[in-house]
Amino acid sequence: MASPDLLIVGSGLFGLTVAERAVSEHGAKVVIIDRRDHIGGNAYSEVDEHTGIEVHKYGAHLFHTSNERVWEYVNRFTEFTKYVHKVYTTHQGVVYPMPINLGTINQFFSAAYTPDEARALVAEQAGELAGTDPENLDEKGISLIGRPLYEAFIKNYTGKQWQTDPKDLPASIISRLPVRYTYDNRYFNDTHEGLPAQGYTAWLERMADHPNIEVRLGTDYFDTSQEYNRDAVRGQLPVVYTGPVDRYFEYQLGDLKWRTIDLETEHLDTTGDFQGTSVMNYADADIPFTRIIEPRHFHPERDYAKDRTLIQREYSRFAAREDEPYYPVNSGTDRETLLAYREMADAEPRTLFGGRLGTYKYLDMHMAIGSALTLADNKLPDLLRK
Ligand code: FAD
Ligand code: UDP
Repeated sequence: MASPDLLIVGSGLFGLTVAERAVSEHGAKVVIIDRRDHIGGNAYSEVDEHTGIEVHKYGAHLFHTSNERVWEYVNRFTEFTKYVHKVYTTHQGVVYPMPINLGTINQFFSAAYTPDEARALVAEQAGELAGTDPENLDEKGISLIGRPLYEAFIKNYTGKQWQTDPKDLPASIISRLPVRYTYDNRYFNDTHEGLPAQGYTAWLERMADHPNIEVRLGTDYFDTSQEYNRDAVRGQLPVVYTGPVDRYFEYQLGDLKWRTIDLETEHLDTTGDFQGTSVMNYADADIPFTRIIEPRHFHPERDYAKDRTLIQREYSRFAAREDEPYYPVNSGTDRETLLAYREMADAEPRTLFGGRLGTYKYLDMHMAIGSALTLADNKLPDLLRK
């Protein structure tokens, strides 16, 4: 492509959505670069050779949304299966349904409480925090479900996942999890839910399938030996940057804290079903991993081989600079550091920062797509004129 109108750094769902809108809505020519050797960012999946099972390379990805615009948009590129996500958790050798619902509560207390009785019990157990405004994850957790349930299902899991005392974590993390006084154990509350019927990669590739989009893989924005590097492009070309914001500014104001995960994959040839469900959490501190994923259960409609399976044990830890940054930790001085980086970002009028890494926000896929659509509506026309 001779000279693009827009450079997008990162081919995740944010970058792909902006690229698709830029070519379809504005007739722009777009180059997308990604330092990985595949498209799609963290939503990418691939087929495991040994079992034929689709594996989410960077961790389990479940699509869900209540945003009608996003749902209509994603359905242009893929059909979705009827998969409904359900999660179970193991605590002291017993399996319970998650998120916490009437089934979890009755099983935990060996009781047969009605919804009103369970509500009253939890209110009593959360009484120690009555009338206060929860300021962190620990207080929010106790105020939502009371101390006994919090200590069994949330405290240690969260400690393992974030490697941070829940007292130092924002309350918003736990607000993602519903608490229900019915036996409904769907993991998500959203109106729409499902998995891309032909797999994530087919969906992601379709978004970039346009003659005016060129994708260059294995291409790092900070590698000055490649054509579209930051030093060459800055101020010359409109850019949408979806990599880590602290990396962009050479960590001048310090490192933002990120969490990463390690997935340990095991192939099993002695059984076709290891755990009977896609995700089993491990709530206790003495089990080092947070959960086990068995990807075959994401697609019960597929005809996978029945004599073998694979599982992924998920471990969580702080990310060093050379690791993949996955989840913003948002503790301690992170907020101030982020605001200072945002000021620096605002001083770069031809570069817009977006996506989970560029904004340092815990965005689900539908949120990343929604915010890219908003950017395309509100900021892209101006950016393309510059
Ligand atoms: P990303 O997908 O991270 O894409 C950013 C891209 O930028 C990457 O491909 C990266 O290689 C590239 N890049 C970075 N720096 C450079 C550089 N210097 N040069 C070139 N390229 C660069 N969401 C859900 O809705 N449901 C889920 O169940 C779910 N589970 C998740 C599980 C895990 C383990 C993780 C990490 C995320 C999960 N998410 C889930 C969130 C989902 O992955 C994000 O919403 C989505 O990936 C955001 O897209 P993005 O484009 O902002 O970022
Ligand atoms: N969580 C927990 N126990 C569980 C599941 C979740 O304590 O069994 C807490 C944990 O703090 C986690 C948060 O709820 O970070 C949000 O959970 P979710 O499954 O949304 O996290 P994800 O891994 O998808 O980001």
